[in-house]
Amino acid sequence: MPGLEPVTAVAPTRDDIEPVAHETVDRIVTGGAVVIPFLALGVAGWQVWGRALRPVDLVLFLALYVATALGVTVGYHRHFTHRSFKTTRAVRVILAVLGSAAVEGPVISWVADHRKHHAFSDREGDPHSPHVGHGAGWRGTLRGLLHAHLGWLFVHDQRGKRSRYAPDLLADRAIRFVDRTFLVWVVAGLALPFGLGYVTGGSLVEALTALLWGGAVRMLVLHHVTFSINSLCHTFGRRRFATTDESRNLAWLALPSMGEAWHNNHHAFPTSAAHGMRRWEIDPSALVIGALQATGLAWDVQRISRERQERRYPRPAGTS
Ligand SMILES: [Zn+2]
Ligand SMILES: [Zn+2]
Repeated sequence: MPGLEPVTAVAPTRDDIEPVAHETVDRIVTGGAVVIPFLALGVAGWQVWGRALRPVDLVLFLALYVATALGVTVGYHRHFTHRSFKTTRAVRVILAVLGSAAVEGPVISWVADHRKHHAFSDREGDPHSPHVGHGAGWRGTLRGLLHAHLGWLFVHDQRGKRSRYAPDLLADRAIRFVDRTFLVWVVAGLALPFGLGYVTGGSLVEALTALLWGGAVRMLVLHHVTFSINSLCHTFGRRRFATTDESRNLAWLALPSMGEAWHNNHHAFPTSAAHGMRRWEIDPSALVIGALQATGLAWDVQRISRERQERRYPRPAGTS
């Protein structure tokens, strides 16, 4: 399983890269998914100003944000990519569906890209490193940040090849189905707030307002929080562990990212179910995995002992 062995690969080959059949269409769709929520945010701001916003809109925003974010963090990332815990087939499908509704791409492609990110972290071959090939000085730093945040979604020369990086998921019929029907889950994630807005408000205006907050604004915020893990968490923050990449822990991003911002911890121990490794390192995704375990829905949960952590400290134990 090449993607599960971090920093063992030497250099990317043709075999590592997923070819793209319709690059232009793909770029247009990606552009739409990025730009439309921004336009929607403008309308949202205007609405707040005009006091058109109803409490139900904020409830929908929060509920769908948390649900789809956990689909990505607990599902796409910690379970499917790194296998940090095992769970039932039903939970796997639910997590893949929720992650799909976050509109960050089909589950198998997301996993292939992310396993390749770990295999080549901040070296040539990393799909979204802010540090490779962007030049020196502040211009290079800015270019690198933009590429890692968003730019990489528009280039396809370093995507993880699905058959090489995610053969386990391609072999799973249920997950292949959710992957193939990605657009259905995207639409369902938008139809739900629209429908609930209509039911609770009784008119098309309320339905559209709910769609705006529970759909577009929710997507926008989660996108940029996820993108920030790739850009900010490889540039700013503290490094507790000696890793061969530039991953960092960024405390202020921990809550909105559901614990993913403890990114240096994560690169040091990719299979750990928890990314927060101290009591104060807030990690809602780890709490969810703990709850699944307590109810018997998760098992073989990977935890890293303090002794194992201390062996990876860059300085003598206790000083970081
Ligand atoms: Zn990373
Ligand atoms: Zn990861």
